[in-house]
Amino acid sequence: MAFIGYTFPYPREGCFGCEAARLYTTMLWEVDYVEENMATKKKVTRIESDAKEPVKSDWKPTAENKGKATRNRVIAFVLWILAIGGEAFVIFWLLNRTFMDLFLLWLIIAIVVIGGLALGANLLWKKANKYDPAAKANAFQFFFQNQLGVIMTTIAFIPMIVLIFLNKDMDAKTKGIAGAVGIVLYLIVGFFGIDFNPPSQEVYASETNRIEQLTGEDHVHWTASGTKYHIYEDCSSINKAATVEIFEGTVGTAFASLKNLDNDDPLCYWCEQRFIKENPDKASVMAEFGSGTSEGPSETDGAEDAAGDGDSNATTSE
Ligand SMILES: [Zn+2]
Repeated sequence: MAFIGYTFPYPREGCFGCEAARLYTTMLWEVDYVEENMATKKKVTRIESDAKEPVKSDWKPTAENKGKATRNRVIAFVLWILAIGGEAFVIFWLLNRTFMDLFLLWLIIAIVVIGGLALGANLLWKKANKYDPAAKANAFQFFFQNQLGVIMTTIAFIPMIVLIFLNKDMDAKTKGIAGAVGIVLYLIVGFFGIDFNPPSQEVYASETNRIEQLTGEDHVHWTASGTKYHIYEDCSSINKAATVEIFEGTVGTAFASLKNLDNDDPLCYWCEQRFIKENPDKASVMAEFGSGTSEGPSETDGAEDAAGDGDSNATTSE
């Protein structure tokens, strides 16, 4: 499993609600943990004529990352379906029972539950896309796949909000409160359904190729809160006193694991310089990718890991 050492705040054994909350939290926590993945650590021999084609068209996630993406997507769909089912329950059952005691309270509870389900689904869906991104080449699929969270959230909220305002049995105050709760939750959950910086196969492919052409293998190192990944595990910008743990894996796994990764130039400047110094014949490869050799490190580079390593209590088992 992806994590150990986290104590759940739901101590009551045999309590169904506690157990459900624990499972839900587990699921959301688990996907945020960085896992090492060396499944496809293969020696890649560079063929000179291929150096002119920096983007490999056949980039694929590792089998393990593909599996995680699929699992997250299945759970996300189950949660979206439950959210839309909850909406149907509100529309077809609850809104016909405005005479009930505590009607407004039950309506708000239902809206909050729907929001919680959709939020979980949206986060899992975006995480799945980081493990297994869409290709920009297919513009419609790229948009649809990356923004599905906000689309599903709209389906789960908007009909219900409209029918709350159109309901003839509720007084204006009840409508106003329930409608406002619905709109605010829709905006919050919908916001988390949008991917403002969607991952793409093309970026993963070109960055994987950059590392493979340079070092001969798709293998990098990073820390939980870093903005860059590294060729050397003893690079001075990750191998510091504050560093709790260094992760390693493929470039694709680094992209999936690093929330703050600098997507435009994810490779550590210092590692790149050091590698070229130790392997002067690779300088032409770096020039090919148009990075590193002439410009200095970005502003965030040096300080990248100092802030977050202190709180990276993530522990991988294995
Ligand atoms: Zn480095």
